[in-house]
Amino acid sequence: MRLAGRAAVVTGGTRGLGEAIAARLAREGASVLICGRNEADAKAAAERLSAHGRVEGTACDVGDAEQAEAVVRRCLELFDGLHILVNNAGITRDRLLARMPSDDWEAVLSTNLTGAYHCARAALKPMLRARWGRIVQVSSVAALVGNAGQVNYAAAKAGLIGLTRSLARELAGRGITVNAVAPGYIDSEMTRAIPEKERLALQEQIPLGRVGQPEEVAAAVAFLASDEAAYVTGHTLTVDGGLSMY
Ligand code: NDP
Repeated sequence: MRLAGRAAVVTGGTRGLGEAIAARLAREGASVLICGRNEADAKAAAERLSAHGRVEGTACDVGDAEQAEAVVRRCLELFDGLHILVNNAGITRDRLLARMPSDDWEAVLSTNLTGAYHCARAALKPMLRARWGRIVQVSSVAALVGNAGQVNYAAAKAGLIGLTRSLARELAGRGITVNAVAPGYIDSEMTRAIPEKERLALQEQIPLGRVGQPEEVAAAVAFLASDEAAYVTGHTLTVDGGLSMY
């Protein structure tokens, strides 16, 4: 129960990595508000997640500043505070650059990067008031090593790392740490969409020889969200089976 008494927002908590992160934070004692773009999905996911602890759900498109602010307000209404923000909401629109329409660039930047900016900005006030806060971004190994067909996604995820380091410096000394996790290939709807032949080829490149599980990313996020990680800030923790090491 490392997170007892803490209130958390997990964006994109309705499935995949976000759902596993919300479950883990709830099991560790945090009260958790999850969001996704669809209200019914967010409510249904919160209902499922209630088996792990206190979890509520609401609709929010993190690319919209007002909706991001509303999620933070909802968290304050429900739990009387906001201590942990996990910027997990993310989408892909993979295509080689030569054929990438600007809509695909904008959509990926809006959710993966601008969304994190909106949510972090909105969450700052309650964290500064509490003189305690944890912001964790869900980046990707694509930010570190690049990936053909993902210039939009890799740019957004690399942007998150720059945001993390800069914000960590801004908030150092205020009791608020800012870190990122960079997952490799994790079993989720996003990666199940990759054709099997390609997936097997990717698996061969992973030193640990297997795809990761959402719970393995959640464990890293829970550590960064805890008091135990008080001396870790501005860091990007890879959870990738060794894929990106050099
Ligand atoms: P999923 O597609 O399974 O889940 C994405 C989640 O984000 C859903 O809850 C979705 O809900 C939500 N979401 C999408 N767009 C928005 C938006 N604009 N506003 C609010 N919520 C939104 O993805 P994963 O679980 O696989 O990925 C989660 C995160 O982990 C992403 O940031 C992804 O980039 C990152 N990641 C994943 C890896 C993997 O191997 N799976 C590897 C590296 C990083 P809804 O559709 O209802 O809005």
